[in-house]
Formats: sequence, structure tokens, C-alpha cells
Amino acid sequence: MTTPRPGAAASEGVARVATRNAAYNADSLRVDTARALILSLAACVEGAELLPLAGALGRVLAADLVSPIDVPAHDNAAMDGFAVRGADLREDAPSRLRVLGASLAGRPYAGSVGAGQCVRIMTGATLPAGADTVVVQEVVSLQGDRASIPAGQQPGSNLRRAGEDVKTGAVALAAGTPLRPAELGVVASLGLDRVEARRRPCVAYFSTGDELLKVGESPAPGRVYDSNRATLAGMLARAGCDGIDLGIVPDDPMALEQALTRAALEADAVISSGGVSVGDADYIRPLMRRAGEVLFWKLALKPGRPFAFGRLNPPAADSPAHGERPGALFFGLPGNPVAAMVTFYLLVRPALLAMQGRADLDPPRTRVPVLHGLAKKAGRTEVLRGVLEAADGKWQVRATGAQGSGLLTSMAKANCLVVLEHERGDVGAGEPVDVLILDGIA
Ligand code: AMP
Ligand code: MG
Repeated sequence: MTTPRPGAAASEGVARVATRNAAYNADSLRVDTARALILSLAACVEGAELLPLAGALGRVLAADLVSPIDVPAHDNAAMDGFAVRGADLREDAPSRLRVLGASLAGRPYAGSVGAGQCVRIMTGATLPAGADTVVVQEVVSLQGDRASIPAGQQPGSNLRRAGEDVKTGAVALAAGTPLRPAELGVVASLGLDRVEARRRPCVAYFSTGDELLKVGESPAPGRVYDSNRATLAGMLARAGCDGIDLGIVPDDPMALEQALTRAALEADAVISSGGVSVGDADYIRPLMRRAGEVLFWKLALKPGRPFAFGRLNPPAADSPAHGERPGALFFGLPGNPVAAMVTFYLLVRPALLAMQGRADLDPPRTRVPVLHGLAKKAGRTEVLRGVLEAADGKWQVRATGAQGSGLLTSMAKANCLVVLEHERGDVGAGEPVDVLILDGIA
């Protein structure tokens, strides 16, 4: 199915949107169908704030940024040389011009250049009136105040035109643009010291499971440390969200209901991990039904089969938060640490970015040969942790090694996810595979 505009169905019921979709199948839901359903309910959060430029890195522009000025403000020299009139340049013989003075960066030449005249000019300096060309200094010979310009120089060359980067009144950056270092520079180039940014979505998260130990607690038989909150905190920060850590919730309906009620008060989205596998879901299901409208899916995905998605009830009429926000989106991730991360990147992160008004919802994707063969079952999407690397100048990908969905170090070794499409069967060595790049510097 095609991806609808994010939030297009936000005013409708979750189940209605899901079952209206011809591809909907709660027992074996394709990842692309799940993604489209989730996105159709992920509306952009209300609210923007004016931020100082220095605090805006990673935020998302809330409105089109219209330039109050031309950048650059004046025609200027792209090279060190001489500002001349194109009409003085000759095809057949050198031109001899009188040097009137100099135009330096920040100190423009006050006069104008007439016929037979030129002005020494440095990179970035304003082009003096009358001149329309810069001839690079390397080709010019100078004797006293006489410059000899060789034949065949191109009129109009070595210039940066006023407004060639951004014109007055043009949209320099569109609403929804994430502010990376380059965008911060663009804002600064317009002379602006503040920027209107979308509010960061608040995302409450908790882990479920009686077996879970908090980090710092002593190891105990049958218990495992809760790693999902650590990865979620990191993934949420990277996705531009404010995380609200609700801790570990025991496998107890009362405690879970309390956590959900609290989360719905404070958050735009709620993420849990664990407790959505087949048996667990059967006792969580009625509880979720009270807290909101939640659907339990078996995704046609490995790892990450059990998954819940829905919307919690908005804050009740007697709550101080009543009317402040619509019901929070709810994502019930599988407990297995790798499955929790994979489903986050494939299904949750795009929704969280859409909630910030972003248009670029997925990590960069490329297709490269895989170093070795991969066993793959047709009829589900399979995701491997991979290392994308160049060997002899050619990009290729290999799996990080053992791929069990509890092996979190397989994720730590990876710089990408290898996504094997739903229909595909076994993959031979050297065949191209899709790769989602997780590393980035900008
Ligand atoms: P569940 O989805 O609750 O059935 O959990 C599946 C597996 O993931 C079990 O082995 C759990 O112990 C493990 N698990 C669940 N939650 C976490 C967590 N927060 N951190 C680490 N492992 C977890
Ligand atoms: Mg559990």
C-alpha cells in the first residue's frame, strides 16, 4: 500500500483505520502495512517555541524560514584578482587597465570602475560599481598602476552574485527541516539568532516483567537486567524526543494500568517493552481496552513478531491535563532486546519523526551485495544486524555474527540493519540486499 500523509487518519478510531485496510491481518501483519497504519495516526504535535540558535541543534523547524535578506548581500569576488568591466576585455590582445585602488573583504572600494580602469579585489570583497567581472590575479601582470590582462578572459567570471545562495523573500529552509549544523549555519547567514522549533514530543516508556532487575541491583537467580530502558532512552534522544522514564512495571494488571494512566497524562506517546507475546497479551488485552484502543499484532517480522499498537484515552475530564492533548499513541514492543530495537527503528521512530513534522522518516537506505549467503523464509520481513563496509573500493555488507534476538551485542557491533523483503527466500552470496544505515555524523 502507499504511505498516507502522516496523521491523515488521526481523528479516526485505531481499529477502524486498521480493518478498513485490505492488507490488514492481525495474525501476520506485513511490516509495511503496519508502518502505514501507524503513520496514518501519527499527527504532528501542537506547539512550537522560539529557541536561541545555540540551543536548536537537532530540533525541527516549525515554520518556513523566509529570508529577510539576500545572501550574499552584494555581488562579490570568488577569487583574489582584479575587478574589471567585461567590455574592456579583448579576444585578440591583452587589455591594459589602470588600477584605481582596492576592494577588500569588509572594506569595499568607494568609487566606480570606468572604461580602461580596474580595481584590485580580494575574495569576498564587494564588486565595485561599474565592474562585472573578476580576473584572477595569477594571470595578470602588474607594473606600477597598470594591469595587463591577457586576451580571452571570460566576462562575468569569478563572481558570486547577490542572492545566489538565498534571495530576499525566498524560503531558505522549509518547515519540518531538522536543524543540523549546516541548517544552523544557514539560519545564522540570514542574521537571525533565534529559530521557531517544533515542541519535542514527550514519550513515556517503561519495561514490564517480573524477571527484570534495575541496573545497580545485585544479580539474583532467574533475573535479568533491564536493558531496554537504556536503549530506549538513547533511541528517543536520537529521535528528538523527551523521554519520561517510568521504570520497571511488574507483571501485575493494577501496576500496568497505573503506569498507562500516568503515561497518558504526561506523554504524546507511550512505549512499553515486554508482555505482548501470545500468552501475556491475553491478560494485558482487557486492561489495554480500558486504557484506550489497542490492537495486538503478530507482525510478519523476524525479530519482532509480537507487537501492540493503539491510542490511549485522552486525560479524563477531572484531570488537570484534560483537553491539553489527544490520546497518546501506544507502542507495545516485544521484550527481546534486539526485537525491541528493530521494531523501534522500523515502526516507532518514523511515527515520532512525523509527530515533529518531519518528512524524512526512515534512515538512509541503500542496496549492496551481501558477503555471504543468508537463509530467509519467504512471507515475512527479516532484519539482520549488519556491518556496511568498503572492501577494495566496493561497498558490501556482512552480518555481525550470531543473530539471536536476545543478543544485544549483535546490535552494538552493527552500523546498519539488513532488511530482507517480505517475499524474498534464501539469499545467495553476492546478491544485493537493502541496508538501513544507522550511523550518521551530520
Ligand atoms: P517478553 O516479551 O516479555 O516475553 O520477553 C521476551 C524476552 O525478553 C524474555 O527473555 C525477557 O526476559 C526479555 N526481556 C523483556 N524485557 C526486557 C528488558 N527490559 N531488558 C532485557 N530483557 C528483557
Ligand atoms: Mg515478559
